[in-house]
Amino acid sequence: MQAVIIAIGDELIGGASVDTNSAYLSAHLAERGIVAVRHVTVGDDAGRITEAITRAAEEAELVVITGGLGPTRDDLTRQALADAMGVELLEDARSAERIAAFFARIGRTMKPSNLTQAMIPAGAEVLDNDCGTAPGIAARLGQADVFALPGPPNEMTEMFERQVAPRLPDAGASARRILHAFGTGESDIGEKIADLMARDANPKVGTTAKGGIISIRIVADGETTGQAERLAEKTADEIRRRLGELIFGAGDQTLPSVVGKALKAGGLTLATAESCTGGMIGRMMTETPGASEYFLGGLVAYANSAKTAMLNVPAETIETHGAVSERSADAMARGAREKFGSDFALGVTGIAGPTGGSDEKPVGLVYIALTGAGGTKVHRHIFGGDRNIVRRRAALAAINHLRLALTHK
Ligand code: AMP
Ligand code: MG
Repeated sequence: MQAVIIAIGDELIGGASVDTNSAYLSAHLAERGIVAVRHVTVGDDAGRITEAITRAAEEAELVVITGGLGPTRDDLTRQALADAMGVELLEDARSAERIAAFFARIGRTMKPSNLTQAMIPAGAEVLDNDCGTAPGIAARLGQADVFALPGPPNEMTEMFERQVAPRLPDAGASARRILHAFGTGESDIGEKIADLMARDANPKVGTTAKGGIISIRIVADGETTGQAERLAEKTADEIRRRLGELIFGAGDQTLPSVVGKALKAGGLTLATAESCTGGMIGRMMTETPGASEYFLGGLVAYANSAKTAMLNVPAETIETHGAVSERSADAMARGAREKFGSDFALGVTGIAGPTGGSDEKPVGLVYIALTGAGGTKVHRHIFGGDRNIVRRRAALAAINHLRLALTHK
């Protein structure tokens, strides 16, 4: 089954607010096997809203509209829907009573304009609003089921879950998986699994990149849930096989949570010595509850003097090789391991930019040292992007080096 989602409001097309309702609806329809084929955003203009509803009902069997159900003159969805259906608006007595009761309950006087919210296209059905005043509308237009929901996200989601979802057809069984990769670009991953990403394939496979993490979504349809689950799992296994160590986790796992779990399983601890990342690794490692079992702590040693005083990085190492060097990263990591008495320590030093780069040491150059009982290894990276991107990538790359070391043990 296919759906078109229409978001209504001048504030949306004017850029004052972001349309989060359509994203919510697409995701929740997808869970039921209904595919949103188009998002339409329309301002508060009755003619354009009518036109959008008419077209959507020709294109899809399900049309979900949000916004424009308020009591003010710019709320035109009711009239536009009635126009698209070629019917009049009629007052729904029960909704009028519910609106009056709502105002009585919150101790405010009702304006006559509030009663316009009880106007419903003839032949349509009312969807009660338990969080606000605007009732929703369920109607039939040609071959399509049309639902009009209020704009405020809390009212919209409540009405969708309680009143729209139960009326949606059972579109067959589906199963989803999401895998997460780190260490390469989206295009590289796209090439490695290109054949699995064919647009009309089942399962449907797609990728998204966010802050250096590439997520691979798998959605399988089947006759039964079991069949869909098996299909999704088979494709997930194939993707894991092709991408190998690039895949670090699945579902709601994050790089720090996966590394935390591995440290905990091995009864191992971590400490950090951070320069250019300014504590980001520590912040990321402590995002997971229970991190105190494996994360001992970290030092942000930004100035050269701090690297020497707090981490025992020899002043001559910094003088001879520079604060951003393999030797300094190595000494920082070993200094942190000694200070905290941890099994592992990460030392990170680099040039986050935008200034401070040279031909020999460009902006984005970062040394990541990982030290443990087996010795120290220093990795040299050059990250592209602005200061924030360089810092974030460096922090994630450091955590990823630890992940790889833990899997290779
Ligand atoms: P309305 O039902 O058009 O009166 O919308 C009321 C309020 O809901 C707006 O002022 C927005 O803050 C919010 N809203 C409306 N549409 C959306 C949307 N598509 N996504 C997120 N918020 C919305
Ligand atoms: Mg509006």
